[in-house]
Amino acid sequence: MTLTPLQDLAQSLVNCERCKLAKLGRSQVVFGVGNPHASIMFVGEAPGLNEDQKGEPFVGAAGKILNDLLASAGLSRDHIYIANVIKCRPPNNRDPEQDEVETCKPFLLQQIQLIRPKLVCTLGNWATQTLLERKVGITKVKAQAFYMKDFVLFPLLHPAAALHQGNLLPTLKEDFKKLKEFLDRHSKPAEPTSEALTPAAPVLNIESPQLAQMDLFG
Ligand code: URA
Repeated sequence: MTLTPLQDLAQSLVNCERCKLAKLGRSQVVFGVGNPHASIMFVGEAPGLNEDQKGEPFVGAAGKILNDLLASAGLSRDHIYIANVIKCRPPNNRDPEQDEVETCKPFLLQQIQLIRPKLVCTLGNWATQTLLERKVGITKVKAQAFYMKDFVLFPLLHPAAALHQGNLLPTLKEDFKKLKEFLDRHSKPAEPTSEALTPAAPVLNIESPQLAQMDLFG
């Protein structure tokens, strides 16, 4: 059976030992899951315990919150692709270290290149700073569109933030509402489908930059 380039990339990482996480207790590389033709991709930080065991991103408590937030924006896991910056679980869920991010980042960029999403929603500081290539706090940039060379970046708080600080859940909900508004503004009407019960994935129509961005980093 011939593999798609994305499957090929996943396969090439199965036994990855490029960074120290390979020897720090990961049980498997968590490459990413979802629709390989998605126009919307979500990027988190790194697998936690549940993700490490199951081999899929966002299957634990933060994943449940994410599923509810996606539903509030009219999205489901079938519509999107989800990956993390770091593909292996850091011990005790510690923050990724710089060398780990630098080692894994090229594979995230390759995933993005192969999936070609129009919109990439980064979840939390790590993913946002990695793809924006700027050390900027998530609270300063969240829920706004940044027009990058090949896609629009839409940073969001990490859903796990609401697990640790329950008072952040309303903010996350509000930000996903802004995401929905952005999607509504940039979606073409979906083609009629015979599977009337399954909402069609949004077809995004995002063109040239519409925001003056310089001062967002000011
Ligand atoms: N947090 C992440 O950033 N990624 C996951 O896959 C799970 C929790």
